[in-house]
Amino acid sequence: MSALIPTYARADLAFVKGEGVFLETADGEKYLDFGAGVAVASLGHAHPVLVKALAEQAEAVWHTSNLYRIPGQERLGERLVAATFADQVFFTNSGAEAMECAIKMARKYHSAIGNPERYRIITFEGAFHGRTLATIAAGGQAKHLEGYGPVVEGFDQVPLGDMDATRDAITEETAAIAIEPILGEGGILTVPWKHLRDLRSLADEKGILLIFDEVQTGIGRTGKLFAYEWADTTPDIMAVAKGLGGGFPVGACLATSEAAQGMTAGTHGSTFGGNPLAMAVGNAVLDVVLAPGFLEHVQDMGVRLKQKLAQICDTFPDVIEGLRGEGLLLGLKCKVPNQQLIDELFEERLLTVPAGDNVVRFLPSLIVEQEDIDTACDRLNAACGRLSAAAK
Ligand SMILES: *Cc1c(COP(=O)(O)O)cnc(C)c1O
Repeated sequence: MSALIPTYARADLAFVKGEGVFLETADGEKYLDFGAGVAVASLGHAHPVLVKALAEQAEAVWHTSNLYRIPGQERLGERLVAATFADQVFFTNSGAEAMECAIKMARKYHSAIGNPERYRIITFEGAFHGRTLATIAAGGQAKHLEGYGPVVEGFDQVPLGDMDATRDAITEETAAIAIEPILGEGGILTVPWKHLRDLRSLADEKGILLIFDEVQTGIGRTGKLFAYEWADTTPDIMAVAKGLGGGFPVGACLATSEAAQGMTAGTHGSTFGGNPLAMAVGNAVLDVVLAPGFLEHVQDMGVRLKQKLAQICDTFPDVIEGLRGEGLLLGLKCKVPNQQLIDELFEERLLTVPAGDNVVRFLPSLIVEQEDIDTACDRLNAACGRLSAAAK
């Protein structure tokens, strides 16, 4: 029996070394990593800028707690504010905690402005917001809620993209609407960008807040620093994590000062959130991602990967049904069980990630180059060829 509680259906693979877009097993087998630790290793493995930042901070000081000022936290906060809609930031260790903060902040806002009855949050079918008790309630997926007792109160779920249902779900108790600009775990489900603008207008009309969960879509993943920039609108509150630390655990909840007004001293906290190590790495990630030309590179690579995946969709309609996503957040909706394609890609030494709705996600690190994309697509082509032949 394993010493690990078996909550994960793990592949029988272990990597002991990583460099750029490659991971290596103890036997020296090299895998091309188009999963990036589920969109986390945004700058690939062992990026020299990140390694240096972490090593230098490790020599200086690891942890002091939020009882004191943390210079790296102030700096990263200021940079995130400068680059986004937000005025203020709260740092966490994970995406779920960033969303948990967003949920608490939305409730607290209405309480602070004299509407404590407004605490409910509208979310969308297929959403994923994390695995804490509140965020599984927000996600609303039966498989995540099953057996965990009473579901945390205050979440109302409506079909994705259904504006009428969203409007109808708003009551005197509604505090906010929360949505991922592209639903990642749900299967790279997209809504037209206009839908995000419509949600903004609806929220303004009803005096409620708009929360974007950019835990997966943020930090350049879609070719903009944040996906909401494509939609030409802004949220009041935004959760960020995955790519922000490039593999070091860190998350953030960004907000306008209006939305954050209830979060006064003592109302929220985290022991580890925003610690010096995480902040050193987060700042280093921004050094790279905000450098001139970097996001253009992501957009170029996104277009190339999308084109090549589209060709493979056309070649193997019996294996793949369609292509979804934006930038380097792409998904293939499969006709065969998605795990079958993922397993076949293991044989090809190409790592991908499953998602809901029978999708296989392609989430290479943002430093991926054209030749890596070509190699990955050659391997996918070979895997699809075998699956297609087997199906005949
Ligand atoms: C991964 C993810 C989360 C949860 O992040 P954790 O770090 O696993 O807690 C929340 N929201 C979205 C959109 C995610 O993709």
